[in-house]
Amino acid sequence: MIMEINYREFFMQKMLIMFKPEDIEVSAKDFISTYASYIEDVGIVGKGPDGYALYPSKTAPVKEEHIDFFEEWVRLNDALDIHGVVGMDFYTDGWFARDPKYQTLNDQNVKMEHQICPNREEFWQYGAEIVKEIGSYPINEILLFGTGFIRDHFCFCERCRNEFAPMVDQEPDRLSYAYLTENSEYHEKWHEFRSGKVHTGLQYLQDAAIESDDTSDREQPLKISVEVLLDPETGLSEGAKSEYGYDYARIGEITKNVLINLFPWSPDIPTKGSSEYGELVESLYFVNEFTRRGGRASLFRWGVTTVEQLQELKTLGKDVGIDRIVSTFHYPSDYSRRRESAIGNY
Ligand SMILES: [Zn+2]
Repeated sequence: MIMEINYREFFMQKMLIMFKPEDIEVSAKDFISTYASYIEDVGIVGKGPDGYALYPSKTAPVKEEHIDFFEEWVRLNDALDIHGVVGMDFYTDGWFARDPKYQTLNDQNVKMEHQICPNREEFWQYGAEIVKEIGSYPINEILLFGTGFIRDHFCFCERCRNEFAPMVDQEPDRLSYAYLTENSEYHEKWHEFRSGKVHTGLQYLQDAAIESDDTSDREQPLKISVEVLLDPETGLSEGAKSEYGYDYARIGEITKNVLINLFPWSPDIPTKGSSEYGELVESLYFVNEFTRRGGRASLFRWGVTTVEQLQELKTLGKDVGIDRIVSTFHYPSDYSRRRESAIGNY
């Protein structure tokens, strides 16, 4: 249980923890004032995977019971010169995903009720509004979760079918995953099409972050760190490009900050010295180029609850040139559904 976690130890190890208000059993003031001298940076959820905002949003539905906590937390971070970080789920939005206009579907027209289709300009605008709202608080960084497609097998919603089918000489209704993977040229077009959507969406959010700087008195521009999933089930960093639609170089150009979610679908990080560990390190070579071009990479993992787990991440970080470790104490509340949709039955 969370109560048993020794926060001080994690803070002293300089791990950035993304908290939910439920993790903390005292007031924001009591918590921050207890640990302030150990905290360099700390995170709080601003909009979670259920789609609800924890601050008084005019755009997203709101969890009223957390507003006071959120606002006090953020205000104290600012007052105490703590690097304030707010988490925001983007396409992982259970509230929006209930709406048939936004759902992402596979080619069997099975709809996903936790994640929406990234091919939605109106949702990019929605996300941009949220970024502006969060950015109006005196915070320094947004960790942006749920930024890509569920898998290469998505999205076959009506809009994606209508836009993509003519590019591969097919009728929208007859477009299938098998059809486009049978032809490597079609498959490549599919990857480009999807990657284009992902990064255009990110640009909307980055533009909103820049705009929000004018309404806040922070000294440095608001950063957006973009989550990318990196898992052996989906081909580590290289496979992730075609599975989820990421392009690390473009993320570097757009937001300059990437948050590498390690092994989201796999239970354990390989131990140093194993061949799997070597593959993982090799897969993270892209970080060198990313950093050389002025970007910053952080390692992230869900559900780190022991200092030993943290040490493993730090060791890996050292081997790949990443000095920032970010974690939550939990897996997302809809984790089993997400994992199933990402790696089940294909
Ligand atoms: Zn779609």
